Amino acid sequence: MENLGLVFTIFMALQGEALFMNLPQEPGLKEVNFFWDDSLVPFVLRGDSWEAVIGIDLDKAPGEYPIDIFLSYEDDQVASLRSMIHVEAKNFRTTELSVSPQYVELSEEDQQRATEEAGEIRAIYSNFSSEPYWVKEFIVPVESATNGTNFGHRRVFNGQPRAPHSGADLRAAKGTEILATNSGKVVLAKNLFFSGNAVFIDHGLGIYSTYLHLSEIMVELGSFVERGQLIGLAGDTGRVTGPHLHWGVRIIGARVDPFSLLKF
Ligand SMILES: [Zn+2]
Repeated sequence: MENLGLVFTIFMALQGEALFMNLPQEPGLKEVNFFWDDSLVPFVLRGDSWEAVIGIDLDKAPGEYPIDIFLSYEDDQVASLRSMIHVEAKNFRTTELSVSPQYVELSEEDQQRATEEAGEIRAIYSNFSSEPYWVKEFIVPVESATNGTNFGHRRVFNGQPRAPHSGADLRAAKGTEILATNSGKVVLAKNLFFSGNAVFIDHGLGIYSTYLHLSEIMVELGSFVERGQLIGLAGDTGRVTGPHLHWGVRIIGARVDPFSLLKF
């Protein structure tokens, strides 16, 4: 394998954000990929450049991560391109709370349901559609919203850290129309213990978006939705204190701020 030692690219990234990478097309180049967090990430050819998107998980340690980008050519030559992903720290809010144990501990039945659903969700994220379903740029699922809150927020109940809040909470009164951030396939559309009425969309290449606490689900499991399509109505189902939209994005398993996808 030829190592193109002279070409060295540094990609700058932030904890909890999507990172878009592109390389120019060259004559005879037919496949480009690299490993990130033990998964093979494909670049896809769009126009005259190769594009890939990865997520920097919100818990990924800041630092420099060397990567080898593999280039395969029509004539079966293979080359590698040494590059680096530089992950910068982002400060996420932490709140410590003392609460009566009855508010933290679930009944055996609820715990069992939550555990089963967590397994089902892990199985969804471990799947990887090898073609991109998305088109154009990603959009905010609530028409009037321009930002969200709480992404990466860490809560510690009685000294026990909970999983960090892995989505953005958007203001949305009950009944507000919720739109698909981009085109994709509905891979979950049902009620979950913590999340209430939930819709998960697979956008391909490991990108998933989720919409939680809906008052109504308006899509069916397995159907394809278009960018901007109405998929449900905002609500307060599941373990929440009031109506809002919890909007989440995973990229090959990494938890990222959904708003970081909009830069694409
Ligand atoms: Zn939330």
